[in-house]
Amino acid sequence: MARTLRDLPADLAGRRALVRVDYNVPLEAGEVADATRVEASLPTLRWLLRRGARPVLLSHLGRPGGRPHPAFSLAPVGPVLAGLLGVDVDFAAPCDGESALRASRELVAGRILLLENTRFLPGEAANDRALAERLARLGDFFVNDAFGTLHRAHASTTGVPGQLHPSAAGLLVERELKALGALADPPRPFAVAFGGAKIGDKIDLMRRFLERADCLLVGGAMANTFLRARGVDTGASLVEETALDLARSILSEAEGKIRLPVDVTVTSRAGDPGAKVEEVPVDAIEPGMAAVDIGPASRARYAKSLRSCASFFWNGPMGLFEDPRFAAGTFALAEAAAEITAAGAFTVIGGGDSAAAVRRAGLIGGVSHVCTGGGAALEYLGSGRLPGLDALSNRERNMP
Ligand code: ADP
Ligand code: MG
Repeated sequence: MARTLRDLPADLAGRRALVRVDYNVPLEAGEVADATRVEASLPTLRWLLRRGARPVLLSHLGRPGGRPHPAFSLAPVGPVLAGLLGVDVDFAAPCDGESALRASRELVAGRILLLENTRFLPGEAANDRALAERLARLGDFFVNDAFGTLHRAHASTTGVPGQLHPSAAGLLVERELKALGALADPPRPFAVAFGGAKIGDKIDLMRRFLERADCLLVGGAMANTFLRARGVDTGASLVEETALDLARSILSEAEGKIRLPVDVTVTSRAGDPGAKVEEVPVDAIEPGMAAVDIGPASRARYAKSLRSCASFFWNGPMGLFEDPRFAAGTFALAEAAAEITAAGAFTVIGGGDSAAAVRRAGLIGGVSHVCTGGGAALEYLGSGRLPGLDALSNRERNMP
């Protein structure tokens, strides 16, 4: 475990805490549509403010592609943070400029300085050393509390702690790692469910779960890809063509552990409320029809598999749950997860959309832990490591 806030020097009064937070929030019409990630940062910010430290916040938002783009500005997050925390929040742009440096030096104790989107700069994703050095000047010590980006080696996650000492993990990161750590040696049987749409990112990690998991439930577009790999005609379903070989090799390695849907909900046009919707066996998907949820027989099978399990990790919705017509598979799995949690099982949901789906099902309080970052959770569970975490323990040095 990396150093945490408690390992920092006791006297932080007046010190600028450069904090990497994960404010990658959904925006709608320029407003924060869901403040869950802002709320998740509050314990660390309160901890720092109580000790007189002056927090300077770095975050990315969306994928603006390395240049300024007003639709991805972090400015709307400032008032939301101010409201939740009850302190004034200053804002500076760009995050690496002289004005940001001046604002950090002039930051009045008890206030917070929020900086503009780090991904407005090409050096962020490139982990540019010069950018990391410019950012490192904004603080007297570094705290990484952006759990959701610990799997990325970017300037603000792995570059800055190489330049700024001491550095430590924040309270959110600590809490997430504790919950995921419990799955390193999970109570058996251990079930894992994979779904969603980010197949290329995830399928590689899936293999690493095969050794540890007793049972792997597959849904969403991930299931379409596996069905296609097995030779099923998946019609117009979303399939990751580039992952078919990998899916085939995973199937040949662990066929016995993997559950694929036996039936699916299909539709002719996903976005059209008037389009035809049917439940069909997987071998009866007609051309032009797309599988957008697991069917009723699959839901019953998955729930039954889960009921015998003592621990469960779930990433990726079973279907296009944003449309109520295609949410039944995801909700059924959420109910089964809540059921086994109530009976004493340890259950973790990882992934922004997965968490949103469980919240929509009204069951967010019914599982043991909800991760704020799916990619990071998968990476950590799969490999036991995270670049952002390794960077925090790279060099030990005292505060200047
Ligand atoms: P998470 O955010 O939990 O990691 P992903 O981002 O990988 O999950 O995937 C979530 C998205 O996958 C949702 O927007 C959902 O609508 C979509 N999805 C799930 N099943 C399907 C499917 N069968 N076809 C197309 N999209 C799907
Ligand atoms: Mg997602």
